[in-house]
Amino acid sequence: MSTNNILVFAEQRDGIIHSASYQLLAIAAKLATQTGGQAEACVIGSGIADLSTKLAAYGAKKVYTVDDPELKMYRASPYASALASAIDAADPKIVLVPTTFMGKDIAPRVAAKKRAAIAIDATEVKLDGADLIAEKPMYAGKFSGTFKLSGDRLQVVTIRTNAYSANEPQQGTTAETQSISLSLTENDKRLKINEIAATGSGVKDVTEGDIVVSGGRALKSEENFKILYDLAEVLDGAVGASRAACDAGYQSHTRQVGLTGKVVTPKLYIACGIDGAIQHLAGMRGSKVIVAINTKKEAPIFKVATYGCVADLFALVPPLTEELKKSNE
Ligand SMILES: Cc1cc2nc3c(=O)[nH]c(=O)nc-3n(C[C@H](O)[C@H](O)[C@H](O)COP(=O)(O)OP(=O)(O)OC[C@H]3O[C@@H](n4cnc5c(N)ncnc54)[C@H](O)[C@@H]3O)c2cc1C
Repeated sequence: MSTNNILVFAEQRDGIIHSASYQLLAIAAKLATQTGGQAEACVIGSGIADLSTKLAAYGAKKVYTVDDPELKMYRASPYASALASAIDAADPKIVLVPTTFMGKDIAPRVAAKKRAAIAIDATEVKLDGADLIAEKPMYAGKFSGTFKLSGDRLQVVTIRTNAYSANEPQQGTTAETQSISLSLTENDKRLKINEIAATGSGVKDVTEGDIVVSGGRALKSEENFKILYDLAEVLDGAVGASRAACDAGYQSHTRQVGLTGKVVTPKLYIACGIDGAIQHLAGMRGSKVIVAINTKKEAPIFKVATYGCVADLFALVPPLTEELKKSNE
């Protein structure tokens, strides 16, 4: 018999909590009012104990920490074992995980370990008695699927980033904390990491920006992408790219948005010189506001755009960046 609590896997890298974790705490608090439990969080890494305060500010009533040098760099097996140990200690009804690369990697492993019901990449969750109902887009966003996770077992759901908003942080709030010791098998330690490749020139990962400035084949070269990096910097955003731009070597595939790239749901997506192929739309159509800049007024991207500019991106983007710089001064 589990508690009625909702446990959030609070993803962190280099001591920085992924903003999606705060969004999940808002959902956890909402679900907890229905289950009669509380929102709790689990944070895993090395030297991360002080992150509990931040999680408390966003609504975690209790924070489980698994803090061990073995967890300094992300590896699926040790992290899954650490989260499974936290689940043993917390005994929650539901576990919420962000739909990030880490979340998608870890959630099925944990669900298998705990023989839990699981749904991946939900954009909406609600309770139906003891059961959890998860809605998720399918087939490149053409359909929405409804999944029912039986309440007779642990329920694990990954939630798409930015599908929900975080609550305003309440500074000065504290949470109960519990440290969980890590116990790894030899199997958990099989993977050794020698080096982590940088994903870009100091600009955020494409899944982490509230604003994403994305470029297509029209950019014509890696050097020309600088104008998008300049705009992203002024907006404190991230840079993305179409597959055509990545295949041409203008950007690394770590920045590719789409069906075979990353799914992004920022507050603002600025598509520069991107045609809007269905495979690209699959990765960005969930963005709150979409601005498209394209010379061709028939380009399919305009069908999903909130605002469209029929313009040459090379003529439009640099002066736009300059204007924004002025307004930031
Ligand atoms: C199985 C499969 C998976 C795929 N997965 C992905 C994926 O994950 N992500 C993805 O993006 N694609 C994916 N694709 C490829 C996709 O079908 C398109 O080929 C690709 O998205 C096209 O990229 P693009 O819009 O940058 O290039 P193009 O189709 O060449 O479009 C360039 C656009 O730029 C405009 N333009 C040209 N010059 C300018 C200018 N100066 N200013 C403004 N606009 C200008 C043009 O009018 C045109 O609309 C996939 C394809 C397949 C078959």
